[in-house]
Amino acid sequence: MPDLPPLREVINAHGLFATKALGQNFLFDEQLLKRIAAVPGTLRGKNVLEVGPGPGGLTRALLRAGAKVTAIEMDKRCMAPLAELGEAFPGQLTVIEGDALKIDHASLFGDEPYAILANLPYNVGTALFTGWLSGEAWPPRWTSLTLMFQLEVAERIVAGTDSDAFGRLAVLSQWRAKPKIAMKVHRSAFTPPPKVMSAIIHVTPEDMPEGVSARMLERVTEAAFGQRRKMLRQSLKGLPGALAALETLGIDAARRAETLSVAEFVSIARVLSA
Ligand code: SAM
Repeated sequence: MPDLPPLREVINAHGLFATKALGQNFLFDEQLLKRIAAVPGTLRGKNVLEVGPGPGGLTRALLRAGAKVTAIEMDKRCMAPLAELGEAFPGQLTVIEGDALKIDHASLFGDEPYAILANLPYNVGTALFTGWLSGEAWPPRWTSLTLMFQLEVAERIVAGTDSDAFGRLAVLSQWRAKPKIAMKVHRSAFTPPPKVMSAIIHVTPEDMPEGVSARMLERVTEAAFGQRRKMLRQSLKGLPGALAALETLGIDAARRAETLSVAEFVSIARVLSA
């Protein structure tokens, strides 16, 4: 295994002070990074897409685990330290300089499957996450998502019916995938520390229920949770056929969105997709 300098030395050598505009909160604890890289299971010889490698802390843990990493980073200053890392692990690391929101990820690996790992700023992470979970084609090319989120967002992803955290994000994350909180990460693990606690979310795809359009399910949850305190008869009023679907399915229109199970949302969308 190549001997690498401590991450703090890499940062200092390249003048890589964290920039707020790019949502940079770096991780330096190599034991923690190793644990995060182990969340998706063994990565030896597997393809990994890492988004936002920054100075390469998680990247080095992935390379040490034997992964073939393609990393997308938009901060030019990180290119030199990442190139050094690539030299230490010949043939294992490809770095793409650019905005991950504008790059077609699936095309990077041809027909091969890949795991996705990222520690990203909140807004970019959420936009990519919803993109990876949306769309009609399923199963996706990615085999798992291992992503750092603010703890509050992670709790919304895994939330169950009847909780305040249950909403569109939970249904999107759970109707054809299985999300779990793999570990909580204290704010003090980051440099600089963010204001709130974080958590690593791990998501694996499951079978897609038959006869349901992803777009229709999105329309149903958008309407239902758009007015989450209202009864379904009010919140779903504007969605053609929705009130009749509730009746067909025997779902009481006096219920509110957060009392429905993910399966009930799927069944409403199925009737409307027919
Ligand atoms: N992975 C490193 C770590 O864990 O220490 C850095 C994490 S830092 C929270 C987020 C990284 O994502 C930064 O290096 C930032 O420049 C990069 N980034 C932010 N927005 C991005 C985008 N749209 N596309 C690619 N990288 C982005």
